[in-house]
Amino acid sequence: MALIVQKFGGTSVGSTDKIKAVAWRVLKNYAAGNQLVIVLSAMSGETDRLMGMARDMQQVPDLREMDMLLTTGEQVTISLFAMAVKEAGYDAVSLLGDQVRIRTNKMHTKARIKSIDTELIQEYLNNGKIVTIAGFQGVTEDGDITTLGRGGSDTTAVALAAALNADVCEIFTDVEGVYTTDPSICPNARKIDRISYDEMLELASLGAKVLDIRSVGLAKRYKVPLHVRSTFSENEGTRVVEEDKIMESMLVSGVTYSKNEARITLTKVPDQPGVAAKIFLPISDAGIIVDMIIQNTRAGDLTDMTFTVIRSDYDRAMKMLREIAGDINAESVTGAQDIAKISIVGVGMRNHSGIASTMFHILAKEGINIMMISTSEIKVSCIIDEKYTELAVRALHDAFALDKDTITVSEEIL
Ligand code: ADP
Ligand code: ASP
Ligand code: MG
Repeated sequence: MALIVQKFGGTSVGSTDKIKAVAWRVLKNYAAGNQLVIVLSAMSGETDRLMGMARDMQQVPDLREMDMLLTTGEQVTISLFAMAVKEAGYDAVSLLGDQVRIRTNKMHTKARIKSIDTELIQEYLNNGKIVTIAGFQGVTEDGDITTLGRGGSDTTAVALAAALNADVCEIFTDVEGVYTTDPSICPNARKIDRISYDEMLELASLGAKVLDIRSVGLAKRYKVPLHVRSTFSENEGTRVVEEDKIMESMLVSGVTYSKNEARITLTKVPDQPGVAAKIFLPISDAGIIVDMIIQNTRAGDLTDMTFTVIRSDYDRAMKMLREIAGDINAESVTGAQDIAKISIVGVGMRNHSGIASTMFHILAKEGINIMMISTSEIKVSCIIDEKYTELAVRALHDAFALDKDTITVSEEIL
């Protein structure tokens, strides 16, 4: 008998019929003799709908109340799911985050899980029940309801799998697994059979929303075997596992894009010790995450500073930077929101040179200008004009032959 945590995303539970279909699928696994913990998201579109209503009430919604509102979405699906299981003659129990004491910190709308009490879940499982738990939510020590940030149900599922020492955590979604790039914009995208935690972390952090990045971090830390697969087929999906030899010979394993970026430039900043700290300390104190930073020295002890922030923080960042620019005697602050970050990811890059320059060459061939570049051991990212996103993704996917199931380096592209 295995203990399996299964998570079904919004599109998988988008209607009562779909919830019934999920219940039947779960019952098949139950009949095979497994203990099952089922984590559900809200119906697709529901979290956005609730956020829209909140904005009708308050220009900048109160974060505590926002969490109170958003957690209702998952309450609907877990209760309906439990009813569907009971209707089929089996037993299920639905539980909210605070009932299973998914304890989080107090960061409303982006809380982090601190601990989970497994006693109650284990007791229900031992009594033969299918336990269904609301994704994306938790509770603070003071009893306030919190949410874990968008896509947070993946994190709930992995955290439960780690706490319960489950045999596997299965993430069911609307695609067959993790692909070489987003299959909704690149028809040639190929499903990846096995991917390392580290590559998956990079893909998730660079825009592949198929898995929430925090869920991958937790899975890596607690060695939770992850299986990303489709709700609508029985096919084997993608296994997220520890790195192995075959993976090392892969050159590039995926292309990602993120339109969630904005660029800010401070010009003619005095080039002296302490200036970068004066710019970036207040920004980070305000909870604004800065990603890429480029500094270009000019003549006359002056420098230009360009960096990226998350698009939703752009207005706040610009306001702060106008003040900071005055304080440090910088000439101007300019910015743009119509940019995108395109990245290639692969553990094989560690052992090969020339990957970054190949990427630049391919973008140049398409006439796409690169505004910023950043690299790590296993990724290269470029900031480009947002309107070229799809073109860039497809061109890079083709050039690195990611549609082919090859694991060797293609000489032509280097
Ligand atoms: P769920 O509601 O099940 O959590 P999400 O919408 O969060 O589903 O994630 C699945 C979507 O992620 C897919 O429909 C796909 O368009 C998108 N996606 C982006 N990049 C990738 C990728 N590399 N592989 C698979 N899906 C991806
Ligand atoms: N319902 C939440 C969202 O839409 C959490 C999730 O689906 O993972 O972000
Ligand atoms: Mg998701």
